[in-house]
Amino acid sequence: MSNSWLKRAMENLFKKSQEKEDFHKARQEWLYNGLEDNQYCEAECELCNHEEIRYEYTIVNSSNRKIMVVGSECIKKFTNDFKNDFYDTKGILVDGKRLAKDKNEYLKKILSEALDKRLANSNNTFYKSIAEQIKKDGKLTPNQLKHLHNFYPTLDDMGKQAFKSVVKVSLRKEREQEQIAKLSPIDLKFVSKFMTTAQRKRFGIT
Ligand SMILES: [Zn+2]
Repeated sequence: MSNSWLKRAMENLFKKSQEKEDFHKARQEWLYNGLEDNQYCEAECELCNHEEIRYEYTIVNSSNRKIMVVGSECIKKFTNDFKNDFYDTKGILVDGKRLAKDKNEYLKKILSEALDKRLANSNNTFYKSIAEQIKKDGKLTPNQLKHLHNFYPTLDDMGKQAFKSVVKVSLRKEREQEQIAKLSPIDLKFVSKFMTTAQRKRFGIT
């Protein structure tokens, strides 16, 4: 923890805590409240005033119910750098794994909503099955993925990021591997964006 970070964090945390002198005590007043669903707000982190935040983690003060919105770097300090345990509002211990899981769920939700909006007036079962698969585990076959080529550019930055982090190319089955071989160069270029480095290597895609 840098000194300038600590100075800002102390100042900001004391403002909203009951405890006004002991940083260690003050931060123990705070509970993890999850990720805020507010993807369009370009806020800055209320703890460090620095970080531009994409993911708005919220913490709530257990005594005065005040809320702070913090970025992903600062929320990590609660689970890693600070030596005391960090709990959520239900009393469950929060660790790095939980933060990662919540972020993933959040991205999935954003992507599902974008897909639902896009497919709202569609009776196309093919697209509906794609949407279902994305909600399930994000693993799409090359042929499913290639049909999202036009949908992808319609997403905003957060949506694209969600897409990149949620969507995986399923290539375990022989049928799926054959699909890769049959893609047009343009479709392959799109599909390969979402392949892992190992997958690209295996299929000789540079
Ligand atoms: Zn911060």
